[in-house]
Amino acid sequence: MQHLSSFVGGQWVEGKEEGQTLFNPATEEPLARASGDGIDLAAALAYARDTGGPALRALSFAERGAILKAMAGALQDARDELLELGIRNCGNTRSDAKFDVDGAIATLLAYAELGTQLGAGKFLVDGEGLQLGRSPRFHGQHVSVPRLGVAVHINAFNFPAWGFAEKAAAALLAGMPVLSKPATATAMLAQRAMQVMVEKKVLPNGAISMLVGAPRNLPELLGAQDVLAFTGSGDTGERLRALPNVIRHSVRVNVEADSLNAAVLGPDAGASGDMYEVFLKEVARDVTQKAGQKCTAIRRVLVPAEHAATVRDDLAGLLANVKIGNPAEEDVRMGPLTNAAQLADVRVGVQRLGAEGKLIAGGSKAPLPKGYFHSPTLFEFAPGASTDAVHEREVFGPVVSILAYTENPAAIVARGGGGLVCSLYSEDAAWLEAIVARIAPFHGRLYIGHPKIELSPGPGTVLPQLVHGGPGRAGGGEELGGRRALGFYLQRVALQGSRPLVQGLAKAGTQVT
Ligand code: NAP
Repeated sequence: MQHLSSFVGGQWVEGKEEGQTLFNPATEEPLARASGDGIDLAAALAYARDTGGPALRALSFAERGAILKAMAGALQDARDELLELGIRNCGNTRSDAKFDVDGAIATLLAYAELGTQLGAGKFLVDGEGLQLGRSPRFHGQHVSVPRLGVAVHINAFNFPAWGFAEKAAAALLAGMPVLSKPATATAMLAQRAMQVMVEKKVLPNGAISMLVGAPRNLPELLGAQDVLAFTGSGDTGERLRALPNVIRHSVRVNVEADSLNAAVLGPDAGASGDMYEVFLKEVARDVTQKAGQKCTAIRRVLVPAEHAATVRDDLAGLLANVKIGNPAEEDVRMGPLTNAAQLADVRVGVQRLGAEGKLIAGGSKAPLPKGYFHSPTLFEFAPGASTDAVHEREVFGPVVSILAYTENPAAIVARGGGGLVCSLYSEDAAWLEAIVARIAPFHGRLYIGHPKIELSPGPGTVLPQLVHGGPGRAGGGEELGGRRALGFYLQRVALQGSRPLVQGLAKAGTQVT
């Protein structure tokens, strides 16, 4: 069986123990093993800091952008092979795998383009300088410079390509080297992407390292100049934030965690017509795309009480038509969950929802004799019903709950405790204004659906131009958002002193407003 090696210290290294087995989740066939045990993590971090860091900081934004473009090119050349791995190791349909791999390529290209725009500077010059007193000589200027450490990226299992690329794009463009740790269960795709980039020699030495396997002490080795960007469960995020070295050295931590994303059908949208159709299509897509294993997937569907029965029946009809099976087969529309542990977790979540809500479709009965499959599952909650489970536990699978509302639904949305995205389907400007004012503070992104948005990707697609992250339960993090993403990897510093000298120091930077 294939043993996945890690790329650290500029070479491929195998872990010492047998490690974890990776499966094809549709067939339960073992595919590979991954172990990071015995890898000298301190040396791996030091190599990234001492070799990759200086190499990247010597480059301009445009030159770093050119590296991102070359990374995208390398992934594009290997696209078919990567899609195949998405199907085999991640249980993705071809369309799901494209969402991940093409998303990775598109995000790298978007940040490559940003690099071109930022041009010849090596750091950012933040706005115009300021006169600081009576004397025009006394001058102040904020600049943002790359941190000297390593950016450790710990990724979730559901987007092995995109998760790797979106974090790496921002860090590399900012000028920080990366040590990426893919989730072990789906590491085959991320590891192959890394191999491809190494083979094509698109990276300066030390710019990206990849640790495959599950050594848990990596975050404990980080210091004051390092940063940690984590995507995964809220529980792990909490544990990482509380590490003594993270607290002692103020290691910057960005957490993207759970999210109980809501879709709200406005009172004006009715239960028929174009707006309603868009709403229905986008909810159904989010339940089944990647078998619901998307951090941005809609989990709670809020509908006016008078339309709840229609929405329930229409959605149940759409979900009943989704063909579940081995995603290697072309007509299959939804694959399995990633592994046995995820399936078990989803079943527990479904049981909890079932204690309060009415099961309309699906449920935890295995739809196929083999593989980690779960049927698309729909619950309904009447107005006034107990809904604690809906608002407290993210069920990371093809599971969605309909909640009927009779008054402004903002308070119900807010019970999610902070989310990545909430989608609103309405053309009533006053209603939109009122609900946005109340729910915006709980979200990183609000998506306002409309039938005239051609080829709308829906709320579940994260775009590189816009912020990805959310407050509260969602982890309080912020990734992407164009240039905003660089801030995490840069240290803002105020230069203060004699004007010609301060201006001279700022000259090598790119002025941004
Ligand atoms: P997880 O157990 O927290 O794992 C996430 C990542 O953290 C994996 O790479 C895992 O490695 C690693 N990890 C776990 N414990 C660690 C430790 N003590 N030290 C260092 N690394 C550690 O989460 P999961 O259950 O696999 O992921 C599913 C969750 O992620 C979902 O609940 C979902 O909400 C969330 N998610 C959020 C987003 C977002 O953008 N906000 C995106 C996707 C998923 P191993 O794989 O080796 O265990």
